[in-house]
Amino acid sequence: MSWLEAEFDVIVVGGGHAGTEAAVAAARLGARVALVTSALETIGQMSCNPAIGGVAKGTVVREVDALGGIMGRATDRATLQFRMLNRSKGPAVWAPRAQCDRGLYRRAVRTLLERHANLLTIQGTVARLIMDDGRAAGVETLEGRRFGARAVVITTGTFLRGRIHIGTTTQIGGGRAGEAPTTHLAEQLEAAGLTVARFKTGTPPRIDGRSVDFTRVEKQESELGAFAYRWSHFEDPGLEPLTQLPCFITHLEDAGKEIIATHIGESAMYGGAIASRGPRYCPSVEDKIVKFPEAARHQLFLEPEGLETTEMYVNGLSTSLPAEVQLRTLRTVRGLEQVRMTRAGYAIEYDYYPPTQLGLTFQVRAVPGLYFAGQINGTTGYEEAAGQGVLAGLNAGLAALGRGEPLVLGRETSYLGVLADDIVTRGVDEPYRLFTSRSEFRLTVRQDNALRRLAPVAERLGLYDAPERAAVARRMEREDALTETARRTTIRPEQAAALVERSGTAPLSHALKVAELVRRPGIGLAELLAAAGAPIDEGGEALVTAELELKYAGYYVRERRAAEKLQRMGGFALAAELPYETMRSLTIEARQKLSAQRPMTLAQAARIPGVTPADLQNLVIEVERWR
Ligand code: FAD
Repeated sequence: MSWLEAEFDVIVVGGGHAGTEAAVAAARLGARVALVTSALETIGQMSCNPAIGGVAKGTVVREVDALGGIMGRATDRATLQFRMLNRSKGPAVWAPRAQCDRGLYRRAVRTLLERHANLLTIQGTVARLIMDDGRAAGVETLEGRRFGARAVVITTGTFLRGRIHIGTTTQIGGGRAGEAPTTHLAEQLEAAGLTVARFKTGTPPRIDGRSVDFTRVEKQESELGAFAYRWSHFEDPGLEPLTQLPCFITHLEDAGKEIIATHIGESAMYGGAIASRGPRYCPSVEDKIVKFPEAARHQLFLEPEGLETTEMYVNGLSTSLPAEVQLRTLRTVRGLEQVRMTRAGYAIEYDYYPPTQLGLTFQVRAVPGLYFAGQINGTTGYEEAAGQGVLAGLNAGLAALGRGEPLVLGRETSYLGVLADDIVTRGVDEPYRLFTSRSEFRLTVRQDNALRRLAPVAERLGLYDAPERAAVARRMEREDALTETARRTTIRPEQAAALVERSGTAPLSHALKVAELVRRPGIGLAELLAAAGAPIDEGGEALVTAELELKYAGYYVRERRAAEKLQRMGGFALAAELPYETMRSLTIEARQKLSAQRPMTLAQAARIPGVTPADLQNLVIEVERWR
């Protein structure tokens, strides 16, 4: 091989959410890592909404954290607004979501990377892979710098042949607004015989907060005080929460809808400029108006971009209409009558590599030593990218260091396991995003118990340092002590009477262990222990987890049995004339895809991307009812 500037165990290409996690994961294994990215200033950049978490995604952040990742820690340093979604449905389905200061998030990610002495960050746009006997053996940048590696992880997001569209006449090559696309590398990957396809996504306009009439919009305060929530499991005693900022809610109503409907032909997505598929669950405002004409209005969130800027993000108004139409639409919205637009929204089309070309380790099957993670695999979302980054980084590191078995997480352990299995074995036919319905283990795979599920994996791989190991041990001991106390403590009927009556369940006829009584709905562990004369002195997340583990003790077995039953029922016949459109217990996506593809068996239905385990369970019931 000709001259190399330096050699590493693992080179990661791209400093987005997948790349930064891949680099940290490999570094934690002890690998010598280089993160090569086009601009060091954009490491950790959030391309779209400056928010982390949400339903299923919040759990992924905690899984990434449990495996030593940085997304949770960076979010703790940058949270401006916090909401616990699903709050009314109880802690089993709580879904944390944070609005971040975009600049602080980026800086936090870079600081956290630079803590690893064996991880170098290098500015450079990778123009091509260096190959050695059919293996990926390094990278060469546009400036001609050459670096060798035993494994290369590519995480270039939306940059490969990225093309930005605003209206039908403005098209700019770009990986993200203001940044050049990656073309040389895209050409080389395609020439290597890999299958490539195109997806699209979009982003809304941003506005100047000084031009918003805040008296005409609804204010939504942060809930950080109510939860004192930390994303990271690893304490940082010196970390003070930032000043919290509110979000604001307003709506797109008839006047705005009319403008969009009139100009729909000028939208890049509807005027024929873009043909590829976009994310079903992050639809553009054009999509919303065409597909849901009956909706009276569409909710918009005005979200702060940072503590030191007045710029705001208009969540819900992703669009590729001409800039002038965007501004006119904005000005029809209550509170935005005089608004100034700081940046126009746009759509972007980019290459992705269908992930069925990967093994479960995220290694490209046709090119040993080459791994892909993040949006390049046809997924969408920061958290999905981060999760893949961790898995690809760990596997690249393990392979490069010659360390034993690769890491493949089961579906029952994590959303990361579900994500990897879904995309690699079933592929994607639209940008893939995680939902709770994609997992058949929704009650036992929760955001609060990520450490319990994944710390053993991290310990086995040696990912933690000493203070982290101690933090994990403290948390596990606390949970175990609470569970043990609940198992040991007996509660008499008269002690439990008030709580049992409040829960609306049958009165006790004899004394019971607290661990048994807590399984009843509406009864909490702390209050039961207090009533039984064994009060606990501190609550916190260990209490939430201990309580839920006791409540759902039987569910894991049941969830597992249900999943096995589905597998056994692979031959279950699906008649050609099944009326999928009327099957209300299936998701809309499943109804549409089953109607279009008409599988003959349950096993075939299970292989359709977008048909979830929950859909399959419901489908069996629907078919039996229909027969
Ligand atoms: P990215 O975060 O894109 O990072 C890619 C990195 O690779 C960058 O640092 C880049 O500089 C670097 N890079 C690229 N090429 C090279 C090269 N040749 N050499 C070196 N470095 C290189 N997700 C949602 O969930 N909802 C949305 O509504 C949504 N809207 C979006 C709108 C837009 C306009 C864009 C661009 C993305 C949107 N996303 C959305 C997707 C989300 O931003 C991504 O899923 C996520 O950032 C992907 O992370 P990643 O690490 O794979 O790639």
